[in-house]
Amino acid sequence: MQVPFLDLRTQFKSLRDEIIPAVTDIMERGAFVGGPALADFEKAFAEFCGADFAVGCGNGTDALQLALRAGGIGVGDEVITAANTFVATVEAIALTGATPVLVDMDPATYHLDISQIEAAITPKTRAIIPVHLYGDPVDMDPILEIARRKFLLVIEDSAQSHGATYHGRPCGSMGDISGFSFYPGKNLGAYGDGGAITTSRDDLAQMVRQIGDHGSPKKFTHDKLGTNSRLDAIQAVVLKAKLGHIKQWNENRRAIAATYREHMGDIDGLFLPEEREGHKSVYHLYVIRSAKVKDIDEALKKADIGFGYHYPVPVHLQDAFKHLGEPGRFPEAEKGAREILSLPMFPEMSKEQAIYVAQTVRSAI
Ligand SMILES: *Cc1c(COP(=O)(O)O)cnc(C)c1O
Repeated sequence: MQVPFLDLRTQFKSLRDEIIPAVTDIMERGAFVGGPALADFEKAFAEFCGADFAVGCGNGTDALQLALRAGGIGVGDEVITAANTFVATVEAIALTGATPVLVDMDPATYHLDISQIEAAITPKTRAIIPVHLYGDPVDMDPILEIARRKFLLVIEDSAQSHGATYHGRPCGSMGDISGFSFYPGKNLGAYGDGGAITTSRDDLAQMVRQIGDHGSPKKFTHDKLGTNSRLDAIQAVVLKAKLGHIKQWNENRRAIAATYREHMGDIDGLFLPEEREGHKSVYHLYVIRSAKVKDIDEALKKADIGFGYHYPVPVHLQDAFKHLGEPGRFPEAEKGAREILSLPMFPEMSKEQAIYVAQTVRSAI
């Protein structure tokens, strides 16, 4: 048996008859930027996220950056986020001119350690970006409570969590504004780069749309410094078609996670993702943790099973961001990075494949 880490080609086969005509239609109409196809997807995506507005943009990094800029955040401001996120979260903060302030990982959840947030707040702090890492929603209530008390903007990084819910509330509906990525490998992936923000604040939605379209509220008028970050019509029809399937795909991912748990839950020294009460994860990634990660790595390679590391080097240990913390500054993130590994996880994966992966992990330990 062979198990890839993810399999976008098999998924395309099941979507071909829906997507080819929709993309052809865009090309025949010749309306490639903006237009009804984009509006149609934005409306459907906002509804899916339980938000009043969605605004498409170029990618997930831009979504976060536009959200920050729409919130008025820039030079002189500080923004708190997790030390163990994908680098893009921190990039987005830095690109606005604001200073990223990292908080260590909570080893029980792999999210930022909520008990350390208040100590990181200074008079310059303007916002906090909780990252719904691996598809599991962050425990938002305590974060929203701190933010309310300290007058901070809450920007959810939902790039890995399309459709995940926290006590019934979807990711993308809980903070002031949220950034999504439609990178092809995400749970909802375009056929190229794409992103969106969701929000129920009319002012933020309008501001994101304006900044992402050259600071232009109407043709030939440029009120503020903007940029070009828009979602192409071709990507919008691809995403609209895929949105019709994502609930089922997320359920498939959850079923694979259940199979993994069933077949690996008893292995000593192996930590599996927890299903916390009220958290409905969509398992963007299935991340296991073990001191024997090198042995697992070797066994998976031998067994022809794809896998990954998310992420092997914490942000502050990257050269580009070494000013954000000395080695040793975020011990849990650093230790975690050495012990985690991501197993295959995609909606088209079979139960037999999941069992084969689990048996291989067991034999390695
Ligand atoms: C993918 C991702 C992003 C960035 O999205 P891009 O579309 O690749 O720019 C941001 N944050 C997290 C947590 C991500 O996984």
